[in-house]
Amino acid sequence: MDHKLRKEIGKIEKLKRRKKFQCLFPQCSDVSIGSHSQQRGGQLKIISENDEVFSMNFSMYDVLTKGNSAFSLVKTRIKNASIYPGFCQTHDGQVFSPIEKQPLKKGDELQAATFFLRTVTYEVTRKRLVHFGTQKILENCAKILPETALDNFKLQNLGRDKFIKHDLPFYLNNAYKAYNSPESGILKTKWVVIPKKLNASSCTVFSPMRDFQERIYHQAISSPQILSSFNLVPMQDETHVIVSWLAQHTDKNEWIESVMDTQLEQFINYVAICESEDICIGPELWESVDIFTRERVYEAMHHEIYRGALDEIPCIIRI
Ligand SMILES: [Zn+2]
Repeated sequence: MDHKLRKEIGKIEKLKRRKKFQCLFPQCSDVSIGSHSQQRGGQLKIISENDEVFSMNFSMYDVLTKGNSAFSLVKTRIKNASIYPGFCQTHDGQVFSPIEKQPLKKGDELQAATFFLRTVTYEVTRKRLVHFGTQKILENCAKILPETALDNFKLQNLGRDKFIKHDLPFYLNNAYKAYNSPESGILKTKWVVIPKKLNASSCTVFSPMRDFQERIYHQAISSPQILSSFNLVPMQDETHVIVSWLAQHTDKNEWIESVMDTQLEQFINYVAICESEDICIGPELWESVDIFTRERVYEAMHHEIYRGALDEIPCIIRI
């Protein structure tokens, strides 16, 4: 059974890797190429060694057979890290040019909107890919997996269905509005520049709600769940931390403004490690972390309830 399952999952992972979607640019009907949510020649290259970084292990087989202990960081070629089928060839270059062809300028509203759009399109695509893979498991592994596992997958995909059909168009729509009129005030941004290169990079959406009960409540109601975007962009001599949220969600994000002034290091580690599946860490940094701390990092990556206070999160990214 194990062998059969491994074979089926292998096939599904291949399908997932080759999966293409329609370009996410409005009215474009071309097919997507592999876009990077974190610039390969920029932030990833800068933290890499021999063009490799540590990123999250997304092996479906491991997740299926090992459960929570499947969480680990694995060495990944930067050409394969943070890749997603989001835009066609033309729009991949065009849409991201404000942040890839221009130097980053703290407070630039078009650049902030571009980061927000990139983060949202990455999330859209990632959710669709996971949905696609889970659907394939349901179709192809029905006879191999126990009923409880299948029921669990069905439930997960129902949740994703709601998110894909309801929440993501809301964010995509607002992201384009902000991108097309950066000064409209749709988006609020807190942008901090640290005067040194951090050996970590991330592009992720996260929930600004730290209260577990409140978060569950917001996920259950029919309005879109509240998400903010986080970009950690290391460069040769400095690192940009750019957090954006929709102005209409400002009350839920207020704490972030002050925490980024007073507890920036904890905040970066909190989002990059506890809230994100899209962290890339330079080998120099990850290989210097002792195994006990690594275990605590893995723990923090998947135990939503046990995370505790900002101060208790393992701080491996040092500013
Ligand atoms: Zn296109």
